[in-house]
Amino acid sequence: MKRIAIFPGSFDPITKGHENILQRALPLFDEIIIAIGKNSSKQNYFPLEQREKWIRQVFANEPKVRIETYTGLTIEFCKKMNAKYILRGLRTSADFEFEKAIAQNNKIMASEIETVFILPIPELSAINSTIVRDIVRNNGDATPFVPKGIELKAQ
Ligand code: ADP
Repeated sequence: MKRIAIFPGSFDPITKGHENILQRALPLFDEIIIAIGKNSSKQNYFPLEQREKWIRQVFANEPKVRIETYTGLTIEFCKKMNAKYILRGLRTSADFEFEKAIAQNNKIMASEIETVFILPIPELSAINSTIVRDIVRNNGDATPFVPKGIELKAQ
């Protein structure tokens, strides 16, 4: 059976942190579906189409990566995609507490689905989309934090 993982997130925008987690997870799975959540309570900064386009650009040469958008519960989307794994990155202890609760509750709701965590490499662990958005909003240069070729413009 194909080992399919879902990498859910808002990717607002994709950063070098996301890219690194995904690259390192690739050898573990046959397919990774990057799933851009559309129903987050968060107000997104970059339009969905733009976020999706950037992700496609970053993984254009990676046949094991697929990109989808979804609404609703991540575990329901996993079932729809026949994915048995959820991939998440753990940057901080705050991430850990938050992710632990979600993963444990998901396990109660869908026992066949495992959440797999990957720690960022130290030099990327301080990168997050919120900081990148703040830099862009204030007309700073966020290129050191995003994958090569991504040009961010204030919205
Ligand atoms: P969400 O709103 O679901 O947290 P994000 O796009 O912010 O969506 O993050 C998606 C996933 O990528 C999360 O598991 C997050 O921990 C992980 N991630 C984001 N930035 C980094 C980073 N610098 N290093 C490792 N993982 C990261």
